[in-house]
Formats: sequence, C-alpha cells, structure tokens
Amino acid sequence: MAEKQVIVIGAGPAGLTAAYELSRLGVAATILERSAHVGGISRTASYKGFRFDIGGHRFFSKSQEIEDLWSEVLGARLLERGRLSRIFYRNRFFDYPIRPLNALANLGPATAALCVASYLKARVLPPREVRSFEDWTVRSFGRTLYEIFFKTYTEKVWGMPCSEISADWAAQRIKGLSMASLMRSMFLPKPKGRGAVIKTLIDRFRYPGRGPGEMWETVARIVTGRGHRLVFEAAVERIERASAGLLRVWTADGRSYAGSDFLSTMPLRELVNALDPPAPSAVQTAARALGYRDFLTVALIVDQTQVFPDNWIYIHDPTVKMGRIQNFKNWSPEMVPDARYTCLGLEYFCFEGDGLWSAPDSELVALGCAELAKLGLVDPAKVVDGTVVRQAKAYPVYDDHYRENVEAIRAFLEREAPNLQLIGRNGMHRYNNQDHAMMTGLLAARNIAAGGQYNLWAVNADAQYQEEIREGELDGGGRLVPERLKT
Ligand SMILES: Cc1cc2nc3c(=O)[nH]c(=O)nc-3n(C[C@H](O)[C@H](O)[C@H](O)COP(=O)(O)OP(=O)(O)OC[C@H]3O[C@@H](n4cnc5c(N)ncnc54)[C@H](O)[C@@H]3O)c2cc1C
Repeated sequence: MAEKQVIVIGAGPAGLTAAYELSRLGVAATILERSAHVGGISRTASYKGFRFDIGGHRFFSKSQEIEDLWSEVLGARLLERGRLSRIFYRNRFFDYPIRPLNALANLGPATAALCVASYLKARVLPPREVRSFEDWTVRSFGRTLYEIFFKTYTEKVWGMPCSEISADWAAQRIKGLSMASLMRSMFLPKPKGRGAVIKTLIDRFRYPGRGPGEMWETVARIVTGRGHRLVFEAAVERIERASAGLLRVWTADGRSYAGSDFLSTMPLRELVNALDPPAPSAVQTAARALGYRDFLTVALIVDQTQVFPDNWIYIHDPTVKMGRIQNFKNWSPEMVPDARYTCLGLEYFCFEGDGLWSAPDSELVALGCAELAKLGLVDPAKVVDGTVVRQAKAYPVYDDHYRENVEAIRAFLEREAPNLQLIGRNGMHRYNNQDHAMMTGLLAARNIAAGGQYNLWAVNADAQYQEEIREGELDGGGRLVPERLKT
C-alpha cells in the first residue's frame, strides 16, 4: 500500500494538534497555512515587542488528555494564573462573581432598592410569555439587574437586541446562575472540587508565559523537527476531487499538494466554495448561508506600570462600543518587553465590512483612546502607541438554520470525500474552545494513522468523546450562542 501523505489545511490548534499526533504515529504531513504565523485565532500577535492575544486565551479543559498534552509541550512555561475580571459600569468596578457589599456600595442604596423592587415585581408579575433573552433574564433577575448586568454586554458581543435573542439560549447559557445561586455565592463559602465550578465563574487557569502563541510556535517547531512540512502564505483556494475522494489542493500561488488524506480547519463555507468540480447547488446554498461574527482588538501601549489589576474587564457601559479590555501584563509579565509599560487590548465585536471593521487603524486607535478617557480608566496622554488586529470569522454563528446547513454539507462530504475529515472551530462550524479543536485533531489523526473509527462530531464542548450520543446532542454539544427568535 502506498505511504500516507496527509494534507492539513490550517496551522491553528486543530491542525497543529493533528500534525503533532501524526508525527508521533510516524505519518507524513504537509501543513498549509494561509497566514504568515501559526496559532490561528489562538495566536499571539506582537507589536514592537508587546504581545497580545485575540481575546485572551485561558488554558482550561475538563479533558485530562488535553491538559496533559499542554503540559507535555510547554512544561513549566505554562503558568498557573488566578483570574480577576470585574464588570465596569457607571464608572465603578463590580466584583465578578458579584459580592453583596461591593454591589451595594457601587449601586448605592437607591439603585439597590430598585433592583430588589424590580426583582420582586418580576416574581409577583412575571412576563406572560417568555420568548426572548430579555424576557427570560427580566423574569429571573428583575429588569434593573438585567439592564445593568446582562443587556449591554450581550448586545455588544452578538450585535442583536436581547429582545430578538431566543430565551432558550439564556436558559442554557446562564444555567446554574439563578438569583438563589447568586445569593448562595454571596453568603456561603465556595463549594470545593472541579465539578462544583460553575462554568461562567472559573477562577484559575493556565497560560503560557508568552501567550497562547508560544504553545503553537512550540508545536510547530516540534512537528517540523520531526519531518513535517509547514508552508506559510499557502491559502488553499481550490480542492480537486474525483469519484473516490479528494486528490490535491491548490494554493493561491498556483502550487498544488497531493495527498492520501486531508484534514480541514478552513471555514466550512470556504471549503465548499473551493471544491472542484463544485458541490451540488443545494450544498453550495447551505454553505453560503453559514454566518460569522468578527472581532478586532485595538492594542494600546500605555506609559504606566499598572493600570488595573484585572486580567480583563467587561465594559457594560452602553455609551462606548468596546466590549472588554484585556490587560496582557496581568496574564503574564512576559507579555510586555519593558515592565514600565502596560499593553491593553480593547475588544470590539463587529461584522466584516461594517463601519468598525472598515475604519482605518488610526481612527480605531483614536476611538480606543477616546473611549478609555470617557470611562476614566486611562489618561489619553499616557497612550504612547497603538495598533489594530482584525480577526475575521472569530465566531461561527448558530442561527435558525445552521444545524441543517452543516448537516447537508457534512452528509455530502462524507459520501463524496471520504478521505477528508473536518476538524476544529470553523472547520466544523462549532463555537468551541481550543480543547475541543485539539481533541477533534487528535482523533482525526488516529483515524488516519491508527485505524480509529472516531466520529469527530461526537466530541462535546468539554472536549470529551461521547461514546453514546443522546438525542439532540450532536450539534447541541457545542458551546452555546444565541439564536434569533423565530417569528
Ligand atoms: C475572542 C476569543 C476568545 C477566545 N478565548 C479562548 C480561551 O480563553 N480559551 C480557549 O481555549 N479558546 C478560546 N477561544 C477559542 C479558540 O481561539 C479557538 O477554539 C481555536 O483557535 C480554534 O482552533 P482551530 O485550529 O479550529 O481554528 P483557527 O484558530 O481558526 O485556525 C485555523 C487556521 O487555518 C488557517 N486557514 C484558514 N483558511 C485557510 C485556507 N484556505 N488555507 C490555509 N489555511 C487556512 C487560518 O489562517 C488559521 O491559522 C477564543 C476565541 C475568541 C474569538
């Protein structure tokens, strides 16, 4: 039998983990990466020696195998970090998780009384119909708390009004966080043990000294050291197929790469569009309908040793566009080249092509400075430099039809391209963390090299392989994103 040659599309966590496992199992691979760097959305960007993530990437998994793999690659370079992330609202910092004295002091007696009154009102006179995220949250916490703690941030992230987001999402997303659990977390000691950690409130995580990019730069070095080829600026544009499956891929510079097996982390929409001969029109229509939410970071260098102690701050103030501020020095001191400075990452959620996305970098840097000044967090005179990093397709969107669209594409590819496996976040159109992307990469590699029969769609959001898939879990096992209300 001919030797296997695996073509891996994308050098993000999924592609590189697959390559890592293939190299361990002695199978040859070529990794084709569109950009000039590794890590994908989990890369660490660098500007004049200041390092910053796309978001701020915590290394935390319920899968011991993934935790062990991180340790194997980085050892002591993986730092153990505590989490401090507060909410900023009306010029005040609210502890997160919320603590009663802090919340009372910040809100003041009048607003606190209003919170209680609106909560009681929601209990006595609940909304008759609970259809939207707004209905659900108002019913659970009262309108005042909804407006302070839920409305603005959710709308910034997802770009749609809470009144149009389905209530199901709230019920699942804020699962375990009710008024009663909030009260318990305020007054009772924290429960012990991993299982007791409420998903939204995890307060310890690991982080590479030089950011997530260090993990993926190290993995890339290991796999190339073991003989894999990693080609940068190799955007796969055409995927040639025959009746038995895929033959080769063509990159934008006109080169072609033949393979026996293919792993794809490129966005599913683009993969279908690259097929040659093209997929049937129904499959193309399904692919075109897949949507994404995009993201940009305005990184500002501040001539100040310490600005605030948090890893990140949620900005609930509705008068500014930014959604969160990361303080990368607090993730790891190695993220700044000179300890006298601080590098802040101001996060803006947007759609590719909208006003924010298309604004020139200089305007975005000016916007960031102005918003920081407005919030009173940083004196703009202290901002000495800034840059912008855009991340297209940061979030695959789960709209009303994404499930059936992904299903149609998947069924077609499984039938017509059995030597192709879809892995990772945009590769599978699943809104999940690195650990999930990595687990799909690991299992796909074992399917090729070790005769595995893993169904990659059975890896759940916690990166665990589900031997038995329960009804409705196959896609629902992903992290949750809001769905628009059905009209
Ligand atoms: C704001 C934000 C915060 C996050 N925080 C965390 C966190 O705290 N912890 C965590 O674990 N995860 C976090 N994540 C999720 C994490 O970033 C992703 O799960 C992970 O990067 C997915 O890995 P991937 O390899 O599937 O895809 P990607 O990271 O998207 O990598 C895909 C790679 O494929 C390349 N590519 C695409 N198209 C082509 C093509 N046509 N040809 C060649 N190459 C191509 C891309 O350039 C990219 O390098 C966060 C994500 C975001 C957006």
